[in-house]
Amino acid sequence: MKKIQMVDLKGQYEGIRNEVNDSIAEILDSSAFINGPHVHAFQNELEEYLGVKHVIPCANGTDALQICMMGLGLQPGDEVITADFTFAATVEVIALLNLTPVLVDVEPDTFNIDPKAIERAITPKTKAIVPVHLFGQCAHMDAIMELAEKHNLYVIEDNAQAIGATYTSSDGSKQKAGTIGHVASTSFFPSKNLGCYGDGGAIFTNDDDLAHIIRGMVNHGMYKRYYHDVVGVNSRLDSIQAAVLRAKLPKLDDYNKKRWQAATKYSRSFEGQPNIVAPKIQCVCEGGKSSCDCHVFHQYTLKITNGKRDELVQHLNDNGVPCGVYYPVPLHKQKAYADDRYNEEDFPVTNQLVKEVISLPMHTELDDEQIDFITNMVIDFVNK
Ligand SMILES: *Cc1c(COP(=O)(O)O)cnc(C)c1O
Repeated sequence: MKKIQMVDLKGQYEGIRNEVNDSIAEILDSSAFINGPHVHAFQNELEEYLGVKHVIPCANGTDALQICMMGLGLQPGDEVITADFTFAATVEVIALLNLTPVLVDVEPDTFNIDPKAIERAITPKTKAIVPVHLFGQCAHMDAIMELAEKHNLYVIEDNAQAIGATYTSSDGSKQKAGTIGHVASTSFFPSKNLGCYGDGGAIFTNDDDLAHIIRGMVNHGMYKRYYHDVVGVNSRLDSIQAAVLRAKLPKLDDYNKKRWQAATKYSRSFEGQPNIVAPKIQCVCEGGKSSCDCHVFHQYTLKITNGKRDELVQHLNDNGVPCGVYYPVPLHKQKAYADDRYNEEDFPVTNQLVKEVISLPMHTELDDEQIDFITNMVIDFVNK
């Protein structure tokens, strides 16, 4: 059996090696390292793939989120509601801009932000909601967009973990993750579903005016060379990263399909196990298809409900199976973000999830033998 990896970037690279190497060599020869033709081409190709009017590439997913908030003109003191159970980048940029983060609880089965908790947290100072499409599945965008409309709030989708996922509204219409709210951010960090070979990110929007504002903001607030109309940042995607992304984008659906198939195989093995809860898939795919894009499984995350999660982590690590705990501490308990405003009773789900979740190896190169080995080890240990 091949050595099991949490993420297998090397194996994936083998499939695109010639194309990537040729493009990188061409960029080295042309010296168009920043804003070269590959960046513009990638932008257009991603706009087409997502069905969104504007893609604005930038340096990483954290910048993308920050620039979304700057572009919307959020001001110090404005409250921004987001999930207590996510990667810290989401709340970090809110705090960095001197906006007020308002952390709320998530749902126990999908791990995504709970619309009822959002509604309870809305005040006259609330200006925006940041749903995170955690682990590859969209948050409840119907309910979130309805709340936003009712209370006149912006919705910024943090789509770092769900690129390529499709959201189906209650009326049956389908949209790609990151094209539903007013604006969205994504990350091309190497281990994300669409990852480059360094840092990278992008902002998506259908709003022409906002896109124009943001295009200047990512480049020092310049709309005309050396005329700085607004305070901006330096956040650009470089040509080499764009070339890698151009090689991978046509394969993204196929990569996500492989993740879906690995996830399906995992979940079948865990069926009926009393102390193991497999991740819930929210959509109903027509006709029981072997592949479906409502969940793109950035992570495959189980809940271990008999208190043995930490021992299982140790056991897997000791036996050559990498795993991860995303995330071990609720954001409202992190030193940087703890605040007297928060009450423990408002976070029953997150407080429980941090003790139960474990993410298993998930990537495009997992084979059946490896998955069987992993599931057998998990089941044997948890029931011992
Ligand atoms: C990875 C990630 C980010 C940040 O992306 P970077 O490119 O690493 O800055 C933001 N939010 C979520 C949910 C992420 O998973």
